[in-house]
Amino acid sequence: HPVPDYLHSLLESLESVREGEVAQYIPTLATAEPDRFGVALATVTGRLHSAGDDQTEFTIQSISKPFSYAAALSDRGVDAVDEMVGLNPSGEAFNELSLEEDSHRPDNAMINAGALATHQLLVGPYAGRQERIDRFVDLMSLLAGRSLRIDRESYEAEMDTADRNLALGHMLRSHGIIHDRAEDVVAGYIAQCSVLVTVRDLAVMGACLASGGVHPISGERVLPSLVTRQVMSVMSSSGMYDAAGEWLANVGIPAKSGVAGGLLGALPGQVGIGVFSPRLDEHGNSVRGVEVCRRMSEDLRLHIMEAD
Ligand code: GLU
Repeated sequence: HPVPDYLHSLLESLESVREGEVAQYIPTLATAEPDRFGVALATVTGRLHSAGDDQTEFTIQSISKPFSYAAALSDRGVDAVDEMVGLNPSGEAFNELSLEEDSHRPDNAMINAGALATHQLLVGPYAGRQERIDRFVDLMSLLAGRSLRIDRESYEAEMDTADRNLALGHMLRSHGIIHDRAEDVVAGYIAQCSVLVTVRDLAVMGACLASGGVHPISGERVLPSLVTRQVMSVMSSSGMYDAAGEWLANVGIPAKSGVAGGLLGALPGQVGIGVFSPRLDEHGNSVRGVEVCRRMSEDLRLHIMEAD
C-alpha cells in the first residue's frame, strides 16, 4: 500500500538523525529512550496509517494545550475565553512570567501562563480540581477513540519540581485570571500534561481538529467548528515554541509540539499527523518530528499557503 510504504521509507531515511537532546528537567523524560521513532497519518475521512514505534506511549505534555483550549472554548464560549487568554504570539519562552500589559491576560493558550488560565476555565466557574481533570481526560479519550490515562510517575515527578508553574499560577491569581488556589490549577495542568498517548492517538486528534470537530472515525461531532478554527489559528501562530514563524514558512501545517518529543499537525480539511521522537532541538521541538513534517509537507504538498 502506498501510504504505509511511504511512512516506512520516511522513518528509515531519518533514523540516522541523532541530533538534539532529550528533555532533562523532568526525571521521567530524562530517561526516555532517545531512539524511539513513530509516525501516523489520519485523514478526515477516517483512514489511519502508521509506521515505526506506533504503539509506544509517551506523555502528551504541551500538545495538551490546544485541546484544553478547545474544551474551554466549547465549555465557556469564545468571548469568555478571549477575556482571559489572548491570541498573539508571545515572542518569549513558553514558561515566561509575563502577561499582556493592560489586560493582564496571558498572550496565548500555547504558553504555560495561557494553559493554566485555560485549564481554570474548563467545565464552568464552580468546577473543582478533579472535575476539570476529568473533563480533559474524557475529551482526550473521546478524540483518541480509546480510554486514556495519566502517567502517575510523570505527574509526581513534575509536581515535585513545579516551582515555575506555581509562580505562574500565583501571578495569574493575583490578577484575577485564575480564581482557584494556584496549587490546584497547577496540579490540574500537570495532570493534563501527563496523559499518555501514541502517535496514532495524535494523528486522530489532529484529524478531528482538521475536520472542523467531527470525529474522523466515529463520525460524531466532538467540537464546534468555530472552536477548531480558533484552536488551529492559535496553533499556527504560537504552536511551535519560538520556531512558530519558521515552521509556518517551511512546513505550513498548524501544529503543536511537546517536550516529551511528540508533535501533532492538523491540516484543515485534510489530515492529522502524529510524530514521536524524543530528541529536541534548541527550540524544544522534536528534531526528527520537524523533519518528518517538513518532508511530508513537501512530498504530499500539504503546505497551507500552497496555492495549487
Ligand atoms: N509539563 C511541561 C511544563 O509545563 C510542558 C512543557 C512542554 O511540553 O512544553 O513544563
